[in-house]
Amino acid sequence: LDRPNVVVIVLDTLRGDFAAQLRQLEKKGFVRLDAVAPSSWTLPSHVSMFTGQLPSSHGVREYPDIAWRDLMHLSKQRLAQGSLLDWLGGRGYTTYGFTANMFVTPQFGFKFDHFYVFEGTAETREKAPGRPGARFLRPFVSALFREDRLGRIARWLAIGVGGTALRLLGVRDLEKGSKLILESVRGTEFKGPFFAFVNLMEAHQPYLGSGIDTLTVRLSLLGLSPPASWWREMYPEHAGLAMSRGMEVVSLFERYEPLIIVTSDHGQLLGKDGRYGHGFSLDESLLEVPLLVRYPGGGAGPDVKGRFTSLTDVRELVQKTVGGEECALGDDFAIAESWEEANYRLPSEAPDGDMHRTFSGRVRSGMVRVFGKGGSALFNRETGEVQSFSDGMSKEEVASLSERIPPVTSVGFQPPAEEPSTKDDEAVLKRLKDLGYE
Ligand SMILES: [Zn+2]
Repeated sequence: LDRPNVVVIVLDTLRGDFAAQLRQLEKKGFVRLDAVAPSSWTLPSHVSMFTGQLPSSHGVREYPDIAWRDLMHLSKQRLAQGSLLDWLGGRGYTTYGFTANMFVTPQFGFKFDHFYVFEGTAETREKAPGRPGARFLRPFVSALFREDRLGRIARWLAIGVGGTALRLLGVRDLEKGSKLILESVRGTEFKGPFFAFVNLMEAHQPYLGSGIDTLTVRLSLLGLSPPASWWREMYPEHAGLAMSRGMEVVSLFERYEPLIIVTSDHGQLLGKDGRYGHGFSLDESLLEVPLLVRYPGGGAGPDVKGRFTSLTDVRELVQKTVGGEECALGDDFAIAESWEEANYRLPSEAPDGDMHRTFSGRVRSGMVRVFGKGGSALFNRETGEVQSFSDGMSKEEVASLSERIPPVTSVGFQPPAEEPSTKDDEAVLKRLKDLGYE
């Protein structure tokens, strides 16, 4: 029995409407689908791909004032109850993880047989061969994320003097680990059948780099006005690099003739209504993500029977393909969920203290955005209230979509029994803190 190899590539934070470059994959026989991420941020979205469940079912999602350490344990417990990795392991697959995202690590329960992690900007540079001078940059880079005067000065320097210095040192500003991931994939002897998971972080913030009006940015960083143009200008370049690197990863795996899935876990807000980043908002730009699929051996498929494919279908697609079954994807219904304040702003834009408040603050009873043929609608799950819906939708469609919203079945957050933290756990938690996740 020939079991196909499987490769899943996540281009983290890549918006669907910025993913045109990926259409090149259609020439290689990929089928392109409209995908909906079940959540606006990395961890719930990935747990959904690996469990095939929505956050309301697997329960690994935002909670009021939850500590990252507790969420880490919860995610570990949930994935230990059965994930795609276990299912594949039970069928003789060897699993490989290559990731630059600290959420998709064994510390959060993603237990690959072979695991390669790259920790984003500063550390990545430090480990990269032939890049002198990178070590001293580490405290500087962490200062970039701080909200005090030092942080502002650091950002100011990073864009002006720092940007030039980095280029002179031969450090690529846009690099967030994908080069090292490519090297690792190239250097790995994959034993079949295998499952390889790759997460590339190039489209994720921070957006430091060349090609911007430094004077404008410096002025805006010193004052209170947001560097909105910076995000909008820089994002396409970063997303472009993520996509070209993603396509290089595709090429490296081609000789194994695998099932290949190329997607993203969520999008990015680039200043719409004064909002940036992803946080816990249910804006369409955070939920509409690219999805391209090619069957093993380059065969055509899968069949498309509806407009939207949820990332929760990734598990079924993999399992059916491994089992030699046909898989039809798409439905005229998809859902994304959130449990917290929808808007959050960047520290550089928000008044002092506001960032923390919006991050950990007001809890909603649970919001859902439901996608249907005519557009999408935002519901309050508990009250049933419709908050908004697309212009193209009829009241009847909104009502019929609301009837399809599944009940919340996860038990919710309960503090897990105290587990001894490992040194690796601490390292990941520190990394989260460095990146401003409080
Ligand atoms: Zn992500």
